[in-house]
Amino acid sequence: MNIASVIVDVQAKSINQTFDYLIPERYVDILTTGMRVIVPFGPRKITGFVVGLKDNSEFDKLKEIIEVLDIEPVLTEELLELGKWVADDTLTMYITAYQAMLPQVLKAQYKKELVRNTDERLPEDLEFLFAGRDYISFEEFEQSSIPYSKLQKAIQETAISINYLVKSKITKKYVTFVEPNKEIYLIEESLMDLPQNATKQRELLGYFIKHPNPIEQGKLLKLTNTTRSTIKTLIEKGLLREYKQEVYRNPYDENAFERTYPLTLTEQQERAILPIKEKIEKQEHDVFLVHGVTGSGKTEIYLQAIQEVLEKGKEAIVLVPEISLTPQMVKRFKGRFGDKVAVMHSALSNGEKYDEWRKIQSKEVSVVVGARSAIFAPFENIGIIIIDEEHETTYKQEDQPRYHARDVAIKRGQYHQCPVVLGSATPTLESFARAQKGVYTLATLDKRTNEKEMPEVSIVDMREELHSGNRSMFSQVLKESIEQTIARGEQIVLLLNRRGYSTFVMCRDCGHVKECPHCDIALTYHKRNNQLKCHYCSYEEPMPNVCPECSSDSIRYFGTGTQRVEESLSQLMPHVRVIRMDVDTTRKKGAHEKLLKQFANKEADILLGTQMIAKGLDFGNVTLVGVLTADSMLHLPDFRSSEKTFQLLTQVSGRAGRHELPGQVIIQTYTPEHYSIQLSSQYDYKQFFLQEMHIRRKFRYPPYVFLALITVSHPNHVRAIQFTQRIVHYLSKVVQEETTTVLGPTPSPVTRVKDRYRYQCMIKYKNEPDLRRNIKKIINLYEEEMRKENLLITVDMQPYHLM
Ligand code: ADP
Ligand code: ZN
Ligand code: ZN
Repeated sequence: MNIASVIVDVQAKSINQTFDYLIPERYVDILTTGMRVIVPFGPRKITGFVVGLKDNSEFDKLKEIIEVLDIEPVLTEELLELGKWVADDTLTMYITAYQAMLPQVLKAQYKKELVRNTDERLPEDLEFLFAGRDYISFEEFEQSSIPYSKLQKAIQETAISINYLVKSKITKKYVTFVEPNKEIYLIEESLMDLPQNATKQRELLGYFIKHPNPIEQGKLLKLTNTTRSTIKTLIEKGLLREYKQEVYRNPYDENAFERTYPLTLTEQQERAILPIKEKIEKQEHDVFLVHGVTGSGKTEIYLQAIQEVLEKGKEAIVLVPEISLTPQMVKRFKGRFGDKVAVMHSALSNGEKYDEWRKIQSKEVSVVVGARSAIFAPFENIGIIIIDEEHETTYKQEDQPRYHARDVAIKRGQYHQCPVVLGSATPTLESFARAQKGVYTLATLDKRTNEKEMPEVSIVDMREELHSGNRSMFSQVLKESIEQTIARGEQIVLLLNRRGYSTFVMCRDCGHVKECPHCDIALTYHKRNNQLKCHYCSYEEPMPNVCPECSSDSIRYFGTGTQRVEESLSQLMPHVRVIRMDVDTTRKKGAHEKLLKQFANKEADILLGTQMIAKGLDFGNVTLVGVLTADSMLHLPDFRSSEKTFQLLTQVSGRAGRHELPGQVIIQTYTPEHYSIQLSSQYDYKQFFLQEMHIRRKFRYPPYVFLALITVSHPNHVRAIQFTQRIVHYLSKVVQEETTTVLGPTPSPVTRVKDRYRYQCMIKYKNEPDLRRNIKKIINLYEEEMRKENLLITVDMQPYHLM
């Protein structure tokens, strides 16, 4: 077969088709689907993915592939199909979906080099090409006449590997190892032959007589206090030998994880895991919703289900929200499965991510624990997919392709005929409704494994505090409880519900608020460098000394950032030690872990932070949890705001009294009567579900209907409205009148961003099999306007951010 069908990297809506290219003779043997190639496209050279091979094309005068970027495919057949599905489902381009499935390093074209991994002779022509060197550039190989198939074979036999050079930083790391080159008794004889004054050589040989295993050169030098030249001398004498080995940049030190063993499951856990194991056994797909209160042992269920899967020689994908990829979480998986676990999260460098991905691709690991994109792990024999904290919105990608990891998980679960397990203490209404209907299989864990009651929650009405003259952000009862807790030598977690709050700058005299000149939004004050920043477009300006409107010098920043809380805390209780955790203090790599470690070591009394502290943390000494402003999220223009509030309050309450000591939770709020606050304080998920479903039904929101959001943006205000109007008009005519509503044009909550005006069309529907096709039609219809007048139309088929 000498023709390849290629999906090319061209960002135009109508180009979602494959193009045929001739495969040059030298690539015919090695080219397979799932490899990346460089092809001519008009006057340009662009990258593309090979999705099919064939003998004939309906087109003639085909152009040739210029270069093949991979020697082994980067996407499996399954992932190629999955990418198409993701693209169709989210209305994006195939190429965008494929790129989202791969680590960053593989999204660009990097220089490559070939690395020799062995001392054994390579095939003659390759041996000749390397000419005694350990590395050669890939170009050198290309210029030679050696067939690609020969290189491919050497790579498959691991004699040679390919290295991508990312910004001159080598993506793979090699370490030199040294080991004895002869039997130990021969080494002993040589040692006796050495002159007494050859102390360094004697020491080295002496070391290997005691430890005849390979050792890293660097470590060897330290241990024996010798030098590289001594090693070289002994290599020349034929007593030692050295070789290079690829090492992965390991962000987690394997030895740091204490090995753990399966616990005897409680009755509830046993009941929950049984049907999951059954599906693993029968190799059948099903979706399970494990609804378990915090501390009910969900993670232990995941671990034991995975063990079952590994024993069958299969693989497991575990998704956790980005912010709960804490060392504590990683430790639980590494502790049970050791170096079989790859970890994927955004704090890794591109090189580290690539290393982890390669471990998965080469099947060196069989478990991946990662954030959203780990759902695309290139495993080929998946036995279980687990999504922990399934209600987290980080599972939805807010960029193209706008996919939800849960949908992709179920798709892969169907392909591999394996169970998908969703776990949460506060499932999304969508998932719980499906479980109630029997679409998912529900397992309920309502007891903590230690039989401890959930901590007592008290609600404090901050309006009454204000009336009684307390203007601080701490109620009397919270302040007293903090003091008592510290006096007992116990610790406190304080949560500032930051969403909906920001530190904006306002003039106290005229009320002027500093806004971004390009976006309809107040600038945020950053104390660190005394700057005002726009969170939408990164615009920045210095904090003014006087009001630009009235020249008053009473211009101040407002709002309750964590910094402000910290300040007022230290005024109120000067002796208290506080660790503050927010985006500012955790920006540096490793800062997050360091702060948590300090808190675990009891170097502080209070851990103060935003949402990021609400999850996954497990500190035995924390007995008080305080929520400073429970309702700040309730008033956002988002139909999920009650659900999110309920979830957050439940999560954070679970942080108290995890172990022996009983816990206490204090929630401060201005709307104590709100059902999401009342019911979360009683841990009554069921009642919350019923009440919230009632509202969703009344106002027609998911899970009663599906939503689609089309956002139109244009530099010209009137044009933006006009285009949205036309879309609304067009869709209204083609949808099913009785069950579908097309709303708009509505200004987006932030109407202007980066000098562009944004309007929305929202579609609420129950059954619209043609909706995607119709939206695609619209997009194609406006292709010219998009190019000529900078019109932008984005579509979100499952919006979570309605902004
Ligand atoms: P969840 O994930 O539901 O919050 P975890 O799996 O973290 O719950 O379990 C809470 C605590 O209970 C952990 O410290 C865990 O080690 C412990 N645990 C879990 N299962 C058992 C069990 N069967 N027996 C004893 N302890 C358990
Ligand atoms: Zn801006
Ligand atoms: Zn002013």
